[in-house]
Amino acid sequence: MGVALVALTLIIVIWLAVTYVVWQRAAAAQRVTGLPRAKVVYEDMCSALPPEGPLVSEARRLVGKPDYLLDEGDYIIPVEVKSTSLPRSGEPYPGHVLQLAAYCLLVEDVYGKRPPYGYIRYRDKMVRVPYTDEVRMLLLRTLADMQAALEATSVVRSHRDPWRCARCGLAYACGRERLM
Ligand code: SF4
Repeated sequence: MGVALVALTLIIVIWLAVTYVVWQRAAAAQRVTGLPRAKVVYEDMCSALPPEGPLVSEARRLVGKPDYLLDEGDYIIPVEVKSTSLPRSGEPYPGHVLQLAAYCLLVEDVYGKRPPYGYIRYRDKMVRVPYTDEVRMLLLRTLADMQAALEATSVVRSHRDPWRCARCGLAYACGRERLM
């Protein structure tokens, strides 16, 4: 009886120690990544782990790989990580918001539940971005425009920025629309 009690106590102590170490490591990882405390169910940032497959919505003809997906209990929440700082305005760049909205739409289709928001983690700050009806509509319009452009035989340039053309990977094939 005495030996059994000692063995049981030992098992409980070891289990508590392992739980504590796991908890400490998870908390440390959370501090390093700056992510909110939630279970990470998908991640595409760790080069030491096998790459995750993309999220696919055949209905929207949309494919994407968010940096993280968090399980916050009621919702699966996408996280996009940026190497730049948050703009001085305190508002995320519109292009980043649209990219995050695309991940929200993919989560909606793949997991069957629309997330109410997503996160953009800038170098200096984490921003919670609401996935509103307006943002969703803007995304759907943008996707429709992109899909129409993909099927068109010629597309008109949408900007007047020569620097953008100078850094564009498609400049070699752009023809007269190119600004440089
Ligand atoms: S080179 Fe063509 S495709 Fe690239 S940014 Fe300029 S206009 Fe757009």
